[in-house]
Amino acid sequence: MPRLSIEVQGVVQGVGFRPFVYRIAHLHGVTGWVRNRPDGVEIEIQGPRTVLDEFLVSLRKDRPAPARIERIATCETIEQAGEASFAIVASGHSAETRPSVPADLAICPECAQELDTPGDRRYQYPFTNCTYCGPRYSIIEGLPYDRPKTSMKGFPLCADCLREYQDPLDRRFHAQPVACPVCGPQLRLTDGHGVAIAAKVAALVGAADALASGAIVALKGLGGFQLLADATSTGAVARLRQRKRREEKPFAVMFQTLAALKRDCDVSEAEARLLGSPEAPILLLKRRDGGTVAAAVAPRNPHLGAFLPYTPLHHLLLAAVDRPLICTSGNISEEPMAIDDADAFERLREIADVFLLHDRPILRPVDDSVVRLEAHGMNVLRRARGYAPLAHPVPSQAPPILSLGAHQKNTIALLNRGQAVVSQHLGDLHSLQGAQLLERTVEDLLKFFATRPEILACDLHPDYASTRLAERLAVQWQVPLVRVQHHHAHVAAVMAELGLAGPVLGLAWDGSGFGLDQTLWGGEALRVDAKGCQRVGHLRTFPLPGGDRAVKESRRSAAGLLWELSGATGPVDNLYTASEQPLLHSMLERGLNTPRTSSIGRLFDAVAALTGIRTVRGFEGQAAMELEFAAERASDPEAYPWAFRGEECLVADPAPLIQALLKDLQQGLSVAIVAQRFHRALAELALAWARHADLKAVVLCGGCFQNALLTRLVRERLLNAGFQVHLPVVFPTNDGAISLGQAWVAAQRSLLDS
Ligand code: ZN
Ligand code: ZN
Ligand code: FE
Repeated sequence: MPRLSIEVQGVVQGVGFRPFVYRIAHLHGVTGWVRNRPDGVEIEIQGPRTVLDEFLVSLRKDRPAPARIERIATCETIEQAGEASFAIVASGHSAETRPSVPADLAICPECAQELDTPGDRRYQYPFTNCTYCGPRYSIIEGLPYDRPKTSMKGFPLCADCLREYQDPLDRRFHAQPVACPVCGPQLRLTDGHGVAIAAKVAALVGAADALASGAIVALKGLGGFQLLADATSTGAVARLRQRKRREEKPFAVMFQTLAALKRDCDVSEAEARLLGSPEAPILLLKRRDGGTVAAAVAPRNPHLGAFLPYTPLHHLLLAAVDRPLICTSGNISEEPMAIDDADAFERLREIADVFLLHDRPILRPVDDSVVRLEAHGMNVLRRARGYAPLAHPVPSQAPPILSLGAHQKNTIALLNRGQAVVSQHLGDLHSLQGAQLLERTVEDLLKFFATRPEILACDLHPDYASTRLAERLAVQWQVPLVRVQHHHAHVAAVMAELGLAGPVLGLAWDGSGFGLDQTLWGGEALRVDAKGCQRVGHLRTFPLPGGDRAVKESRRSAAGLLWELSGATGPVDNLYTASEQPLLHSMLERGLNTPRTSSIGRLFDAVAALTGIRTVRGFEGQAAMELEFAAERASDPEAYPWAFRGEECLVADPAPLIQALLKDLQQGLSVAIVAQRFHRALAELALAWARHADLKAVVLCGGCFQNALLTRLVRERLLNAGFQVHLPVVFPTNDGAISLGQAWVAAQRSLLDS
């Protein structure tokens, strides 16, 4: 009888793939075996030809929900005599290692059912999981993924759990984090000094009571500590804002069920599927009038970040409280989340009234992912839980490359053997904790993938913590360091994700990045291919009085832009006090601490200040967001005009735009229409640059394209004019993808050199 050897690569470990293979083998009556290899799963099957074909169909079609098959290779092998059955055998070792690290998975419907079934041995047990769900990346120490290499190693299995773990037909067969109330982790409730208040079910009830009475609870969640508060209580929200020193940035809200969520948000079918997926991200949804959630949760914001309980613990807590809860990262501003108890007490004591803890160690911070569904597909705003660190195919013959990203919303990436692994969102690197997390994540990835990078890549900015670490590692490992311009990396990230060889026109629009000419770039049109990057267009530069401070105060961008265009700051002088004005003017006159920028993010800030929408921002991107929301309220076909100059490089001068905008404001035109006309002007700018570059393929990237209205208008304008428009789908458009782009650029260069 024929015998096939099958290799399966993709996300096939930690997702119940081997028991699934075992079940379909029994179903079809084939003999042979299945085993894990460091780079996937290996199967041999023997039986009549037609049955083997059916098995292969089933292997692709019926795979478990969290599994992702990237590649199946089959070849005929030698018939084995005397084999009576199909078996799961011990993990094999292979010289060719292309491992995959499984991502954390949201609780599956079967486990949720057990949780709610009185009499089930896992009734109300908050650490229930199975091969289809539960913690993975947040608890893994090393590969291959086996219980002794997870933070569950300290919990020996009881007889019942062991039986399930060993039974190939059980849903918990080889579920590494399997646990029950007898042998697994337990809850406890403490005050901010670790003094015990209650344990087990009483701890859960205590936390629920605290939340119901308006208290703030620090919860040791899946990938780190979270802060919880009653989302329906204006008082609780105000307390959380005041203690967390977070005045206006929206909070995400967790709802008990999809039905409850639909009372507050409009949800399409596709959005409902995403909310209930194993990745279970925070989804940005349109808020409904008359919902249950307090307005202060997301002030002046027509959207709400909403999600569903993704661990059994969240599931039980939400059921006990019976109302939506704010569920936000347990950190201060953009520092990494706390993951161990001592650190959480230290950092969150002033914020939380009580702490709901458990004794399963969290090995690395894994934040909640944030996603929005748009006309063109997914827009991933933060890629972490559920998605990271899943590998993405990026065919390349280059040697292993490690890239350390930029500075904000940072990630790192490893490009090796035709796949790119991008870390989870690491947050900003301003803080010591951020820099330490960066270094630990480097160690993590290299250990998991058993790789020694032969090339390092980083940003051009000399002061980023990522650049400094890259410089240190390059010396330590004696490997070359490739410095990649920030916006080149933005474009390259999309090319890497979508497999575009180029040349493409990349429109890289963001806050700012280190340019090649001593200015801060951020409104760029770049021609990119495997050989490199050429600047074919940019925004006319303008001074930013105060440098970094301009990022926080949109009035500074407005003053700088007006100064550039007219030599005066008249229309925004009223935004400065009498004592501030002379300093501003002398900075601008003498060019002191006023770097020049071509950033469209800063142009957004300037317009937000001129329209009075926002003159000083509370959080990153707030000015642009509020301008977007204002524009969404209007519908107006007009676009403000531009002037262009230059031949090779087409410089876009916003002078006529600003002139027309100020005139509209003087004449009392509504801010909504002004904001709409400004957005449309940017779509015209995209088209002008696309025509100038004369390339069919246009890539849109950079933080500005987190703006859904801008993305839609630019995309439609380009599509209607016959261009192809490419946007990232699985990686963020913001700096979270810079590491991927850096790795791709370094790979192309190494191949050109060799
Ligand atoms: Zn499950
Ligand atoms: Zn047990
Ligand atoms: Fe950027």
